[in-house]
Amino acid sequence: PIVKPIKINEFLDNVLRVMEGQAALHDIRYVRDYQTTDEDILFADAAQIKQVLINILQNAVEASQPNEAVTLKTRKNRNHLIITISDNGSGISPENLTKIQNPFFTTKEHGTGLGLSVSYRIINNHHGEITIDSILGTGTDFNIHLPLTNILE
Ligand code: ADP
Ligand code: MG
Repeated sequence: PIVKPIKINEFLDNVLRVMEGQAALHDIRYVRDYQTTDEDILFADAAQIKQVLINILQNAVEASQPNEAVTLKTRKNRNHLIITISDNGSGISPENLTKIQNPFFTTKEHGTGLGLSVSYRIINNHHGEITIDSILGTGTDFNIHLPLTNILE
């Protein structure tokens, strides 16, 4: 990854702006719930993290029904940033949860099944982790954990 300092809130707002048109087509609105401040910085490859967020936001929109919200939440603990993307959509069965990391696993008629496998690889390369909380028929939280360490120092 090409690591640079990223202003977290501004960066996330930019990603949401890119995705707003697609959400509008599905009658989905994005809700921001940032616990990070406008000064909080993440050291990461912005293009790669943007790709991860776009993949997960797109899945959230595709799993949702019209008029539902998709929430982008941030929080920090001592040394990690956690970005959570939540939807109130279809949810993922326990069986499918074990497969979604695999390249080409898709339940969509026209899906590639590549978005999540690429996303897991990118987050692993950043020494982070993706965790999922999903309830079938209720919705899904994708949690992206990223170290807040300044690896440039
Ligand atoms: P694709 O979107 O092309 O199917 P992905 O790798 O992005 O490929 O996702 C793989 C599969 O994971 C999807 O086909 C879907 O079954 C499941 N999935 C991913 N995100 C969600 C979500 N937010 N809600 C329900 N299912 C999801
Ligand atoms: Mg996808």
